[in-house]
Amino acid sequence: MNDNTLINNPDFLRSCEAFVRIRRDIHAHPELGAEVPRTAALVAQLLEEWGYETHTGIGGQGVVGVLRNGTGSRCIGLRADMDALPIMEHTGLPHASTIDGRMHACGHDGHTAILLAAAHYLAHNRHFNGTLNLIFQPDEEGLSGAKAMIDDGLFDRFPCDAVYALHNMPGKEVGHGVARAGVFMASSDRVTIRLQGKGGHAAMPQLSADPTMALAGIILALQTIVSRNISPTESAAVSIGKIEAGTTSNVIPDEAALVLSVRALTPESRALIERRIREIVQGQCAAYGVDARIDYVRLVPPLQNSDAEAELMHRCVSDVLGDDKVEGNEALPLMGSEDFAWMLQERPGCYFLLANGTGDWVGCSVHNPHYDFNDRLIPLGAACWVRLVERYLKE
Ligand SMILES: [Zn+2]
Ligand SMILES: [Zn+2]
Repeated sequence: MNDNTLINNPDFLRSCEAFVRIRRDIHAHPELGAEVPRTAALVAQLLEEWGYETHTGIGGQGVVGVLRNGTGSRCIGLRADMDALPIMEHTGLPHASTIDGRMHACGHDGHTAILLAAAHYLAHNRHFNGTLNLIFQPDEEGLSGAKAMIDDGLFDRFPCDAVYALHNMPGKEVGHGVARAGVFMASSDRVTIRLQGKGGHAAMPQLSADPTMALAGIILALQTIVSRNISPTESAAVSIGKIEAGTTSNVIPDEAALVLSVRALTPESRALIERRIREIVQGQCAAYGVDARIDYVRLVPPLQNSDAEAELMHRCVSDVLGDDKVEGNEALPLMGSEDFAWMLQERPGCYFLLANGTGDWVGCSVHNPHYDFNDRLIPLGAACWVRLVERYLKE
């Protein structure tokens, strides 16, 4: 049953049209990584205008808007991401990026507009009792914006009993969603392996220690981690994204390198994969007489939704979209990663998905030059946020 009247309220829908314009303006002016001054200033200016106590410069260029109502002690945090990607846009849409090589190809322009639309509504319709913290973070794509805000005292300065975030999901009809408990997205680690051999003449390999042999051995042996070491009932990925060796045909190179991406759904699998990568590199290097240096960077942990908060989010999204439109715990986890995982390590909460649609642009995968965020999600997403706030901070 869809018992949310908000998405049938003509005044609310009309007010959302302004946020479609704001979304397209942000889309046309994408900013990268930790440097989002224009977007952050726009967000801060609007929040201030609507009466939010507005704090800027948190963890770099993060913004927090605080709205208190009533005497309730409960407090909730809702998070949106503001950053774009270093991609040349090929949508040809009227609101396409005005900056070559930068594009909102993950829909963070939309997530920001959705949270602003909810912020606007809640400022003018304060049917809640407690504290609302709206968190706008830079550098989700670099998997470091959330961490930077936390390290800058985010949850000490703006206490939150629970935190929530959403992401759009292309490829499914608008009006569907996913909100499940437990692990929902994978950890992400970046591993750089540098091999140091001894270069020489291609005609006299016996005088060299050829790092390309170790490189080839490592590449093949790495494939056995997921297939032989991880239980078949678990999910993990070890992918080689870059290899480097040599310059020309008659030279055995001095060094070689490879860069991997590692994904896991549990801390145990994550640790097991790291141990096996180190053992394989060591063993292969010993076999071929070369040295190795491993730079193992743990970027972000698995994203874990807590039970009660996920159940509440599932109920709120179902109120807006309809009971039969929202997948719950039966949904499979995703092997992508999300730096909201850092916030969920600090506080209970839920990260949920709203379908972005099918067909041209909106059905196109994120991180693709033809992708666009679907503006139909602005009223739907804002209604989910309003529902959540009104339930979590019940009067
Ligand atoms: Zn992305
Ligand atoms: Zn994204």
